[in-house]
Amino acid sequence: MKILTSSQNIIEGLNKININSSEDLLFYLPYRYEDMSYSDEENLVDKQKIKLLGKIISNPKHFSNAKIDIISFYIITKKNKIYNIKLYNRGYLLTTLELNEEYSISGTYNIEKKEVIVSSIVKGVIDDVKRLRSIYHLPQNINQATYRSLLSRTLMSMMDFLIDPMPNAFKQKYRLLDLKSALNYVHFPIDNAQISLGLRTLKYYECLEYCLKNHIIRGENKRILEKPKGMIDTTKINEFIKNLDFKLTHDQVIAIRDIILDMNQQSQMYRLLQGDVGTGKTIVASIALYGNYLRQKVGVFMAPTDSLARQQFESLKTLFMPYGIKVGLLIGGLKEKEKQNVKQLLKNGEIDILVGTHALFSKDVIYPSLGLAIIDEQHRFGVKQRNELLLKDDGCDLLLMSATPIPRTLALSIYGDLDISSLSQFPNENRRVITKIVSPQSSSIISEIKDCLLDKRQVFIVAPKITNNDDSLDSAEKIYDIYKTLFKEQVRILHGKMKSEEKAEILDDFIRGNFLILVSTTIVELGINVLNAGAIIIYSASSFGLATLHQLRGRVGRDGKEAICLLVDNDIDNPRLKILKDCSDGFVIAEEDLKMRGPGDVMGSIQSGFPSFSCLNIVDDFKMFECARDDANEIIKHRLNPEFKKYFDYVNKKMLNEEDITLFD
Ligand code: ADP
Ligand code: MG
Repeated sequence: MKILTSSQNIIEGLNKININSSEDLLFYLPYRYEDMSYSDEENLVDKQKIKLLGKIISNPKHFSNAKIDIISFYIITKKNKIYNIKLYNRGYLLTTLELNEEYSISGTYNIEKKEVIVSSIVKGVIDDVKRLRSIYHLPQNINQATYRSLLSRTLMSMMDFLIDPMPNAFKQKYRLLDLKSALNYVHFPIDNAQISLGLRTLKYYECLEYCLKNHIIRGENKRILEKPKGMIDTTKINEFIKNLDFKLTHDQVIAIRDIILDMNQQSQMYRLLQGDVGTGKTIVASIALYGNYLRQKVGVFMAPTDSLARQQFESLKTLFMPYGIKVGLLIGGLKEKEKQNVKQLLKNGEIDILVGTHALFSKDVIYPSLGLAIIDEQHRFGVKQRNELLLKDDGCDLLLMSATPIPRTLALSIYGDLDISSLSQFPNENRRVITKIVSPQSSSIISEIKDCLLDKRQVFIVAPKITNNDDSLDSAEKIYDIYKTLFKEQVRILHGKMKSEEKAEILDDFIRGNFLILVSTTIVELGINVLNAGAIIIYSASSFGLATLHQLRGRVGRDGKEAICLLVDNDIDNPRLKILKDCSDGFVIAEEDLKMRGPGDVMGSIQSGFPSFSCLNIVDDFKMFECARDDANEIIKHRLNPEFKKYFDYVNKKMLNEEDITLFD
């Protein structure tokens, strides 16, 4: 349904924020609300924003010259208090202000002068209904009032056409509103209770739909395929593993076994392989690709960027060279002629494994028989990509890979009911990082650094902030100042506010070993590989999430020698830090963190790559996901129930036709 305005200017503005229809408009939610109700006059606070209703009791005076423009007058409120009102730079209002009339005034209060510097003034009382005003993120050319009036018109005229697919059973179970009231409450609330009720309803609508989609996908996966998949000869897999020039970790072996077993089932594999950076996911994926080659199917490996795809291509090519397996590369950065060439080779059956980016799933890429798709670092794998894949081959096995350890319970909510393999061991058996919790005054900090320097090993020092104004040791700059005097030119600083060339140069210098101590904010998290780093010292450790701390700790000891991680904190008995001290398994740490703090903090630092929702938040609404998962199950189980059937058909249709469906009749 089209947007109800004739202004091209507004339509273009809305398109910019992805509002292309009336439906989009209704589901574009406010990011905050402004409270328009009047302040309690007994408790006004100096220099704070206040709102008053008062009658003008003195003729407004206007002073203006080249520099200033002030209107001033007095008002009296119902409480018989008198205030001095000042308006700056709004001389044009003078003729509209009437003596003895009531005005609603908001502005900043000066307690000593009993004066209000006005930010807005409107004639009359703000009625109850309008006291909470929804505020939206809007493009510059559309103001809030215009937007709200468009929204109100849309709500009025569309209400009767809105389909409300939610089964009554769930509405009653969770005491949800119907969709119309929920939208009304969220956009035009009378009080906070309406906002939270409306939001809760909209969230559940979104959540249940998401979970049911996941279930539907999973159901299809589990269905027995008609076409035979072809069996993989496991003795050949064993031989391949024997010929590797390293020994697989126990976790890798288990993961490979599970993957090959899945692939040998007559249903689709739908598995997530997760493991920290460096746990060796690639070789696991490679062996899956090898198995797929053995059953004479084409495999694809999808990476998030051109350069990662290129790297992967090179290493797969080298690995498979002795086996005569043909590996191809298809990325956006190739010349058109090269792309055509690859596509032709693929079509002719002259490529066994194709590595690339999202380009792998373009319409004109034709796979003779796609058997396995591996998607690396792809958190955002959603329904859309899944459909694209289905179009390529109905029975294709799927392996998703992620470097972010997510507790199983959360993973299930996000990805649906998939199978999970986890790599928690690092290949380098000797790698051992000793973790200690120390106070900022502890002498062991300096002595650990000195020990490292004696061995010519490098040291990371991490702080949560760039600068601070108090005496606490929690900013990179302050810490840098201290160590600079002690260790001179061995110390350099790195933080996010520096220019990228400067950062690259410093990092480069550090990696080359040109200096030994790097003081920085958490930007060192970003996968940097410094082989001989022997210690990491993390200040204000308790202000970081455990997942982050664990990742930071993973930056040292890469040479296989013992390394040190000092967690510096005033609270040396902090129970969260103790978990880290006693445990080196990223998954256990993530689970513990989830138990202690709830999903919010656990996911805080890693949320960015996950599916985006319009009002849901996988973190805060974690519990809701769990309910909705069960409810989706219920819907599938009792699909003959007419209400459930209606809902199921609605979601299913929406999935098949993601782009075109609307909520309206
Ligand atoms: P990630 O899980 O981050 O993708 P990679 O697969 O890139 O990790 O592996 C990191 C490095 O470890 C690679 O150089 C790889 O060859 C090596 N590697 C993987 N498994 C083992 C192993 N079992 N023993 C020794 N080295 C290994
Ligand atoms: Mg990798």
